[in-house]
Amino acid sequence: MNRILIAEDEPRLASFLNKGLRAAGYTTTVCEDGLRAAALARDEDFDLLVLDIGLPGQDGFAVLRALRARGDRLPVLILTARDELTDTIAGLDGGADDYMTKPFVFEELLARVRARLRSEARTEGTAGTGLELEAAGVRLDLRTRRAEADGTEVELTAKEFAMLETFLRHEHQVLSREQLLSHVWGYDYDPGSNVVDVYVGYLRRKLGAERIETVRGMGYRLR
Ligand code: CA
Repeated sequence: MNRILIAEDEPRLASFLNKGLRAAGYTTTVCEDGLRAAALARDEDFDLLVLDIGLPGQDGFAVLRALRARGDRLPVLILTARDELTDTIAGLDGGADDYMTKPFVFEELLARVRARLRSEARTEGTAGTGLELEAAGVRLDLRTRRAEADGTEVELTAKEFAMLETFLRHEHQVLSREQLLSHVWGYDYDPGSNVVDVYVGYLRRKLGAERIETVRGMGYRLR
């Protein structure tokens, strides 16, 4: 679980960020004052700081400088108004990792948050972001859509990837054809179709036949 500190004094934007990031599975703390943000970043353990530049108490640049002066490498994503952009780019030299100009689309912010947390996880050698799945010698990167089997990259179509992802999310479980159909093709797909068997065949060809076991009368299982 990643913890994100949101320092933003516009109540609507703070609430929008808070709700969106929580919905995306992050734990959030919101503060609307620069001094408070600096204190929280110092005293508590966060994985990322979303930092508005125009804050009361102490502006975002001062918060960032204080952080870096202590040697704290907490990733910082700056939020800035368009007319502050020149200052902000100067601020990036002061140790910010990325910035976004307001107004922005939430999906864009989320993509940057994920990218930042992911590169941090890579640096620390941990896969703490939930963006990778690994089992039975198979590894999927959900962000880049890359697949590896026993360390070798495997080219998969979108449906093959989705099916393999379903298997990895249900490690050790037998998945029925109906479960695989509903996960990969959606509920309105013809239940009489043999498309699941066809795609299991494709995956076996790419990953090795032994990787997906047929459980007679029940379905398939990753092993
Ligand atoms: Ca502000």
